[in-house]
Amino acid sequence: MRLQDKVTVITGSSRGIGRETALAFAKEGSHIVVNYTHSQEKAEKVAEEIRKIGRDAIVVKADVTNRAEVKALFSKAFDHFGKIDILINNAGISRPKSFLELTDEDWDEVMDANLKSMFITTQEIFPYMQKQNHGRIVNLASAAGQYHGPFILNYAVSKAGVISLTKTTARFGAPYNILINAVAPGMINSEMIEEEMKTDMGKTIVGMSLLKRPGEISDVVASILFLASDEQNYITGHVISISGGGYLG
Ligand code: NDP
Repeated sequence: MRLQDKVTVITGSSRGIGRETALAFAKEGSHIVVNYTHSQEKAEKVAEEIRKIGRDAIVVKADVTNRAEVKALFSKAFDHFGKIDILINNAGISRPKSFLELTDEDWDEVMDANLKSMFITTQEIFPYMQKQNHGRIVNLASAAGQYHGPFILNYAVSKAGVISLTKTTARFGAPYNILINAVAPGMINSEMIEEEMKTDMGKTIVGMSLLKRPGEISDVVASILFLASDEQNYITGHVISISGGGYLG
């Protein structure tokens, strides 16, 4: 097993990519802290499934844009498990709107949920990982932050920020053996983009990929798992594109 006895905190793991990552990590031997903001029932179900696999799981409600709630999330995780090996910064939102329709509130909401949240979680997890002298962080960026396709402006800018945050914090993590990387998925079959896939924008983005089809959540989970596991110990500050070659389109 690739994550035997590790402890992983996954933000936004009540559904979608976060949920599937939680289950895949549990199958590889990791205990899991399931986090959510609204979907309590779904989060509890994920934890139940993890326990059926034979790993321990706790569910913690925390809004990752709120520093006090993030502090409480990590302190509950540490109190229960005694360590935190891996953080997956997965929680994120998309509010599809055209450029001229975007309001200041739309801008702030997406920046807070997608980017400020990762500043807060990364800063707050550091003392735990520094003391252990090891840690892995994998951030969910997006193809939207890598190449300048017909994306939603605030979403694209927030994810470009995630890439910058990943590379810059990797420098701060390196002296403590904290490896920080990101994955940048293109259009992935999931609840989040169900509506976008029906629009011209969604079809254009899929059309920009060399493979001319959306990806699957399992494609994203495989890369997250690789970056978080001890299979690799020499990659940090890197971004894996999971977009069917979309960056070449
Ligand atoms: P979903 O919308 O399916 O799930 C989002 C998860 O994040 C939910 O568990 C939700 O919890 C949680 N969440 C949202 N805001 C907060 C918050 N403030 N605090 C804590 N949890 C929060 O998203 P996906 O699984 O599709 O996406 C996951 C990540 O991958 C996101 O960062 C997204 O930007 C990125 N991504 C997704 C792509 C795709 O095609 N799906 C493509 C590229 C990147 P709750 O249910 O309780 O609200």
